Amino acid sequence: MSFKDLQLNKPLLRAIAEAGYDNPTLVQERTIPFVLNKKDVIVSAQTGTGKTAAFALPILQSLFDYQDAPKKGKKIKALIVSPSRELAVQILDNFKTYGIYTNLRTAVVFGGTSIEPQKDILNKGIDILIATPGRLLDLHKQDLVNLDHVETLVLDEADLMLDMGFIDDVKKIERLCTKEKQILLFSATIPYKVEQLANTILKNPERIEVAPNASTSGNINQVLYYVPKRNKIELCLHLLRNTIKGTIIIFRRTKFGVDKLEKTLIKNGYKVDSIHGDKTQHLRQEALNKFKTGYVNILIATDVAARGIDINELDAVINFDLPNVPETYVHRVGRTARAGKSGTAYSLCSADEKTYITKIQQLIQLQLDVVEDHPYPLDPKAKPVVHKSKKQGSKHKKGRKSEASKKKKKRWY
Ligand code: AMP
Repeated sequence: MSFKDLQLNKPLLRAIAEAGYDNPTLVQERTIPFVLNKKDVIVSAQTGTGKTAAFALPILQSLFDYQDAPKKGKKIKALIVSPSRELAVQILDNFKTYGIYTNLRTAVVFGGTSIEPQKDILNKGIDILIATPGRLLDLHKQDLVNLDHVETLVLDEADLMLDMGFIDDVKKIERLCTKEKQILLFSATIPYKVEQLANTILKNPERIEVAPNASTSGNINQVLYYVPKRNKIELCLHLLRNTIKGTIIIFRRTKFGVDKLEKTLIKNGYKVDSIHGDKTQHLRQEALNKFKTGYVNILIATDVAARGIDINELDAVINFDLPNVPETYVHRVGRTARAGKSGTAYSLCSADEKTYITKIQQLIQLQLDVVEDHPYPLDPKAKPVVHKSKKQGSKHKKGRKSEASKKKKKRWY
């Protein structure tokens, strides 16, 4: 199938050709016709499948007739809600690329930065708004954004949005838009809570599923190192010195772990940057830019910070900590070996993570190749160390925390 078969107009086709796309990806082929037909959709697709264009192109096409409305008279006709600022910026870039030959105006608003410039942008009149939930509701409360004319609402990375606790915000946003709008829900996985949300707000949605989450590409060489927890950093340094070259992303489970590893790698002369949820928007964007432009070749990230971000075509992925959710393994390693290239995923497994490996192997239906020849082998009989607290239970009463203090709790991702 070609983009022409998808009934896209000339200005879009020209922009697509200039972006270097020959043919639509599977998710685009399946989703675009439904969106153009004003259907609600639930699309389960991961980053890298071309899912952004799967909603951006038909939205631009549908709004094409409005493009010549005078700037001040422009109303927000499409709203894209995204869980993270980086992803929101990426979506904006996509709209700008595909909409270059239209007069449609797209803008992005997100938290963590000054609200003033965003007010100005909204005042100037836009057709398409991309927003993170909190900032959007803030702006709406201040009467600075009008959602009365939204015809298409996109919930991108819905599973992540719910994991991050945005469920009430998302429902509120949905209610602020008109009843007749079309809703497009995109999610890497469709867990029960996403299904529940979909049931409450979507109307007879079409379901589209691409690249089942349970499979990893055949081009990815997946290897496993059993290693004592205390030696993981040494093994990682050993691998970087001797085996792993090129552009590399290293996943850790916590921001504390990310910071610790980053300091060690910098001390050892590596060009590294990192992203996690406690970094400012500016620092996260700077880290991504440095990585994308090759200024650093190693990026250390938590899963949540890296989700949805277009960092693909890596030479290697290192699972420094193994994920406790097996699907996360698939997301992580799927960032290498894209577009027919090959890549390697290295997993470092300590004694207490052995059960994770079992679950991962069951999911991907593959036994990972175990590398035994390395300087920090794990005693095969090693059992996980269980740290027992001397005290039984907490001296504090349950529920002692106020709601306010719970909200202030630092994020771990
Ligand atoms: P996404 O899944 O939206 O994050 O897209 C992943 C990457 O695929 C982005 O870098 C897009 O520019 C690229 N892309 C999207 N659609 C196509 C296509 N039809 N052909 C080639 N690349 C594409």
